[in-house]
Amino acid sequence: MTSLPVQNTRLGKKGIITNIQQYSLHDGPGIRTTVFFKGCPLRCRWCCNPETQAAAPELSYVERKCICKQECGWCAGVCPTEALSFAANGKVQINRARCTSCFECVRICPSQALRREGQAVSVADVLAAVEEQSIFYREGKGGLTVSGGEPLSQPKFLLALLEEAKHRNLNTAMETSGYGKYAVLAQAMRYLDTLFFDIKSLDEAKHQDYTTVSNRRIVENLTQLRRDFPNAYITVRTPVIHGLNDLPEEQTAIRAYVRQMPNTAFEALPCHRFGEPKYATLGREYTL
Ligand code: SF4
Ligand code: SF4
Repeated sequence: MTSLPVQNTRLGKKGIITNIQQYSLHDGPGIRTTVFFKGCPLRCRWCCNPETQAAAPELSYVERKCICKQECGWCAGVCPTEALSFAANGKVQINRARCTSCFECVRICPSQALRREGQAVSVADVLAAVEEQSIFYREGKGGLTVSGGEPLSQPKFLLALLEEAKHRNLNTAMETSGYGKYAVLAQAMRYLDTLFFDIKSLDEAKHQDYTTVSNRRIVENLTQLRRDFPNAYITVRTPVIHGLNDLPEEQTAIRAYVRQMPNTAFEALPCHRFGEPKYATLGREYTL
């Protein structure tokens, strides 16, 4: 009797990502390939990757790349819902309420002014891209980092990806807001070499105001993680944001909170506004 080949069901699991970034130097040890998951329950005002926030693929438009109605104008002609029109200067105007995310306009746009943010990919697709760079991982324990967006928001894809990466002896890291189901976080820990866990503020009202969610679940998750995985090395990261947590007493409180936990390092990340121009491409306002 011939035996059927055993199928690896992890490889076919699909998720939505916005980007696979090679040669990352700040997302864990060594040189890494960072995979940006799409979808996040937080709406941090300073977020530098707003295209990763909504769970579904969406349309972006970079006005300076558009060669205008006079030279082109093709996109409006293919839009089935008349969501596209032109301003007096020939640039595109998007009525997002009408857009059904069919991405016909993206396919026809010759200058890539219109882009689809978010692609469905399988674990096999991601690991093929990650393993292309294997030669760079040998020095300095480089490998795969999952980021976002919030990786915990796609639990099946996340766990399949991490488990398969570990199965292939890849070094793994995750950057998380900590806002997700504890059971998923605990399962992910089994396949992670490095965890970066954000604590944005210990003040619940400010946290709610600047991120749209309470910090309670985040703090509870970290407390539980430390209890269940006391030997795992975790780095707590705090982006320093004016008005949210930049007072000396706020920084001192976060450092003191982290110091009482075993095997836990702390990094304060300087705030920047590099992501600001992306908001306009998504038809959104930058509110920091
Ligand atoms: S994605 Fe589709 S519906 Fe949306 S603007 Fe483009 S062509 Fe129109
Ligand atoms: S198809 Fe692209 S380049 Fe042409 S008008 Fe539309 S957005 Fe501009």
